[in-house]
Amino acid sequence: MPPVVYQEKCKGCGKCEEICPGDLMELNEGKKAFCRSARDCWDCMACVKACLYGAIETRIPYQLGYYPARLIPKMGDKEIEWTSIDINGKVDKFVVKTYNK
Ligand code: SF4
Ligand code: SF4
Repeated sequence: MPPVVYQEKCKGCGKCEEICPGDLMELNEGKKAFCRSARDCWDCMACVKACLYGAIETRIPYQLGYYPARLIPKMGDKEIEWTSIDINGKVDKFVVKTYNK
């Protein structure tokens, strides 16, 4: 599933464009990000994690959990806090340590 960009939150910083390993994210004429080829996105979530404004979300593939299931990362200095919301709205949080400095 392609990432969803909330246009009202996007600041046009270009970080998602820089970090996408598939070169899939672009800024449109209005300096808002979009995924130019949804079928090529493999849900690595690099763009989601790179966005400091929480403007991008990845929809979980329907085989795993159809909408409104969501997985939302919040980047910290040395950890990522993930919020998982299942199809019934049940919320779980879990923290994964990273090697970021
Ligand atoms: S990283 Fe976030 S704020 Fe920056 S261009 Fe991408 S979606 Fe917009
Ligand atoms: S989830 Fe990964 S592959 Fe898909 S657009 Fe974002 S950075 Fe690119």
